[in-house]
Amino acid sequence: MNPTVRKFDAVIVGAGGAGLRAAIQLSESGFKTAVITKVFPTRSHTVAAQGGVAASLGNSEEDNWHWHMYDTVKGSDWLGDQDAIEFMCKKANECVIELEHYGMPFDRLDNGRIYQRPFGGHMSNFGEKPVRRSCAAADRTGHAMLHAMYQRNVKANTQFFVEWMALDLVRDAEGEVLGVTAMDMETGEIVVFHAKATIFATGGAGRIYYSSTNAFINTGDGLGIAARAGIPLEDMEFWQFHPTGVAGAGVLITEGVRGEGGILRNAQGERFMERYAPNAKDLASRDVVSRAMTTEINEGRGCGPNKDFVLLDITHLDPATIMKRLPGIREIAIQFAGVDCIKEPIPVVPTCHYQMGGIPTNYNGQVVIPGKRSQNEIVPGFYAAGECACASVHGANRLGTNSLLDLLVFGKSAGETAVETLKLSPKAHKDLPQSEIDRALARVDRLNSQKDGANVHETRLAMQRTMQKHAGVFRFADLLKEGVEKILEVQKDVQRTEIKDKSKVFNTARIEALELDNLIEVAVSTMISAEARKESRGAHVRNDCPDTAECPDGRDDKNWLKHSLWYKEGNRLDYKSVKLTPLTVETIALKKRAY
Ligand SMILES: Cc1cc2nc3c(=O)[nH]c(=O)nc-3n(C[C@H](O)[C@H](O)[C@H](O)COP(=O)(O)OP(=O)(O)OC[C@H]3O[C@@H](n4cnc5c(N)ncnc54)[C@H](O)[C@@H]3O)c2cc1C
Repeated sequence: MNPTVRKFDAVIVGAGGAGLRAAIQLSESGFKTAVITKVFPTRSHTVAAQGGVAASLGNSEEDNWHWHMYDTVKGSDWLGDQDAIEFMCKKANECVIELEHYGMPFDRLDNGRIYQRPFGGHMSNFGEKPVRRSCAAADRTGHAMLHAMYQRNVKANTQFFVEWMALDLVRDAEGEVLGVTAMDMETGEIVVFHAKATIFATGGAGRIYYSSTNAFINTGDGLGIAARAGIPLEDMEFWQFHPTGVAGAGVLITEGVRGEGGILRNAQGERFMERYAPNAKDLASRDVVSRAMTTEINEGRGCGPNKDFVLLDITHLDPATIMKRLPGIREIAIQFAGVDCIKEPIPVVPTCHYQMGGIPTNYNGQVVIPGKRSQNEIVPGFYAAGECACASVHGANRLGTNSLLDLLVFGKSAGETAVETLKLSPKAHKDLPQSEIDRALARVDRLNSQKDGANVHETRLAMQRTMQKHAGVFRFADLLKEGVEKILEVQKDVQRTEIKDKSKVFNTARIEALELDNLIEVAVSTMISAEARKESRGAHVRNDCPDTAECPDGRDDKNWLKHSLWYKEGNRLDYKSVKLTPLTVETIALKKRAY
């Protein structure tokens, strides 16, 4: 039986910061807009963002977007596209102030302006010293942001489909995207959302790793769906490990703690970051701090009986500051580490946090793929924004607080581009190709009829352990090679997963199996792209790429200053150029990255 078809001007998959921002743009322009989401909008992972959103407002000290742009290009280890980075940094102030006008309860300075705190890699005057650039609502910035934007959407009559899971894209023979198929989790019913614009804002996929700061729902669905529909995934080898996950639990302790003056110490009580980053110290970029911590632990200077973590110390801060600026962190430390951070330091380890890669887009939020005419041909009807997308502003390493900014800027620009396109060509919905609908149904049918298959939980665990061991903070040539073989083995099991409970109503076992179909695409693309990139850059650091005059810190600009593109079909890799020319200013020239 064919599924029900529902027609909208636009369908947005994902109700985190990026999806909600895009939806505001469309709904307020009068377009009939559906937002599909696995969880209630304000439970999306954006809710967990603690540290803040970057904008060079300069409320406490001088700042400007050129410096922000420089820091972002440098942070990206020059892999970021400079046109998109200029676009984002320039738009930051407008987008943050707009959010304030939506009702975002930012912390305030005494003069009434938005409070800003320093954050890793954000510096004044082209890398001189840390600058206050992160606009924060205590340590609950993402929470406040989602609530402000959800309410704005309710006012604009955005139609929400809560506890619905998008399954697959519908593309016609010309490659145009005509919507998605989705399952109502409550009933198990499958519906086709037929739209003239489809925007993916499905967030990250940190759950491919065993230890992650990400929510359980961060399973890379948008990436899996896009990959199955023939869209390549860009720069998937670049994963950010956040320096300060609570040891053993993985829960995040925001970088804002170091922004407020927190210090990392090894077993000898030494402030070891002074040796690794003499200038920025504890506020060097995340990849640098994570590697320094891992080196301390590997060289025997870790803390605890197994010497397997370091300490984040804020005992020297005024307790009143901790209670005012970091109340949520104190709660997390008490709950998950069993320490009151006012009196004792918090045990921390680097933990998987963020994917720099994703669905390739331009700075207008349009999905782009290599074609006959150019490396960046627009896929009609298809947009992506937020963590699932690769614009690419974060390149090989993202700076803290630049993701919330990415959601606002590119959520808005994807929405704006969709609005313009809908206004320019107000055409009727194109016919839906039956084969595409059958494709989505076949995946669910396979799962329903599988016998003697693989256990979902065990298969997911095998994937997570493989990723953790073979594609972690440091990467080793032999482990990567072995990792490719192992992950392809796990993939075979994913293709034959079985669920015992076949019922339709709120069947979470089925949802988890469908999520695993997406996670595995992300894991495979990561391992294959990482194995192939024979250099060290940003978050991707290999043992077989030494520091030489030609390749400082192992970065090989001659051969590897390019974006990876992984195609699901045949696990094929392709590459495209990095956009080194910004929109209006001069190129930020390549140089060795040091903090
Ligand atoms: C603990 C933590 C703290 C962070 N702190 C900061 C910070 O302080 N500053 C900063 O800049 N960045 C921070 N980040 C990063 C940043 O929060 C995320 O990158 C960002 O919030 C992602 O937003 P998003 O809108 O792309 O996706 P999300 O907020 O993850 O939302 C994804 C949405 O997609 C929906 N979805 C996914 N798959 C499907 C599907 N198949 N069908 C239907 N719906 C689907 C989900 O229901 C959800 O609504 C943090 C991240 C974490 C994990």
